[in-house]
Amino acid sequence: MRAEIITVGTEILLGDILNTNTHYLANELAAIGVDVYYQMTVGDNEQRLLDCLDESLKRSDIVICTGGLGPTEDDITKEVCAKYFGYELELHEKSWNSIKEYFDKSGRIPTENNKKQGYFPKESIVLQNDHGTAPGCIMEKNNKIIVVLPGPPREMKPMYDNYVKPYLLKKTDYIIESQVIRIIGKGESNIEDELLDLIQSQSNPTIATYAKDYECTVRLTSKAKSKEEAMELIKPVEEEIKKRFGTYVYALGEATIEDEVAKILVNNNLKIAVAESCTGGMVSSDLINYPGISSVFMEGCVTYSNEAKMMSLGVSAKTLETVGAVSEECAKEMAEGVASRHRTNIGISTTGIAGPKGGSGEKPVGLVYFGIHINGKTITKKYIFNGDRQRIRYRACKSILNDLRLELLKNNIK
Ligand code: ATP
Ligand code: MG
Repeated sequence: MRAEIITVGTEILLGDILNTNTHYLANELAAIGVDVYYQMTVGDNEQRLLDCLDESLKRSDIVICTGGLGPTEDDITKEVCAKYFGYELELHEKSWNSIKEYFDKSGRIPTENNKKQGYFPKESIVLQNDHGTAPGCIMEKNNKIIVVLPGPPREMKPMYDNYVKPYLLKKTDYIIESQVIRIIGKGESNIEDELLDLIQSQSNPTIATYAKDYECTVRLTSKAKSKEEAMELIKPVEEEIKKRFGTYVYALGEATIEDEVAKILVNNNLKIAVAESCTGGMVSSDLINYPGISSVFMEGCVTYSNEAKMMSLGVSAKTLETVGAVSEECAKEMAEGVASRHRTNIGISTTGIAGPKGGSGEKPVGLVYFGIHINGKTITKKYIFNGDRQRIRYRACKSILNDLRLELLKNNIK
């Protein structure tokens, strides 16, 4: 099945808003095995939208439009799509009632304009909007399909997930399953390189790599007649990828590095204390996001100044005078200091230069040291991260969490 995406809206053309709807839909369609060869954006203009629909439906089976379902005169998408198929719009009582209810809930009264959002061709399948007023719809004619969705992503996404996706899956006589393998510490191009033979020889499951903020994911997607069959196709490829990347793989499916680390700490009842300089509380905050962490998380200190490092953590004046706060020695003393203060199994620390100022030839911006103290033993790590201040801090935060995971693994803790 081939689909195209048409996003409607002059503000997208002008660059006023970022076209995240196309991004979302393209990703989702790929995941269920629907091919997307073209994507278009068109302004709120009847003739140009008609032209786009015509062009798309000549070469594809489905067009998904987003935007222009609002109550005003310039919201024309649904009207133009109906016109393209030669369908008349009529009031869809159920939708009009839900629109009135929606307004009622917030103590407002719909205007006569809002009624426009309740009109649909009788030939269409109306898609209720659980997060706003404008319902969407699916129109079919001569084996061609137009799906019309609202523009706001918070309305569009759930409408796609809950109503359009199941509809599309029913159209195909197979089901789609996917598995996501999460990898930290390797770039996307390296990953692709190391999987090239698999990528080139596999068609079911398909293998796609994505670079995300601090991690890369490999998504395996298979088509089959049943869920079991689809999982069976995925399993051997998943195993092979896990074997190739070893400890670089930190989780499967929906996961974050902080949750994975927090889970290990809680499951093994390992108490932790965190001393942060350049990350300024991000590491603690990340761990504390995990529900249940209270059983093991003792304290997170933001010891930014030299005085705080000495007073709160017992970092020696000599270290600060001789090698400075951004040093292996300081990171070590910080991690040990914070662990000893609370008698925790684990103490971790960050100290670095986030920039943009403060770097030198010897200690450039982006230089960060970590201290990781586990059950009496301390190791340190040195990194030089690229990017602006926020990015350096963010990457330092995620990296120390991953390094902690790796050190725990070395200690056979998982
Ligand atoms: P409304 O009832 O709010 O007018 P609508 O269905 O008519 O909704 P538009 O008017 O086209 O949709 O867009 C409304 C808002 O939705 C935009 O201002 C923008 O914030 C968001 N939006 C629209 N299209 C996109 C898109 N392609 N990607 C991301 N956001 C979008
Ligand atoms: Mg609008």
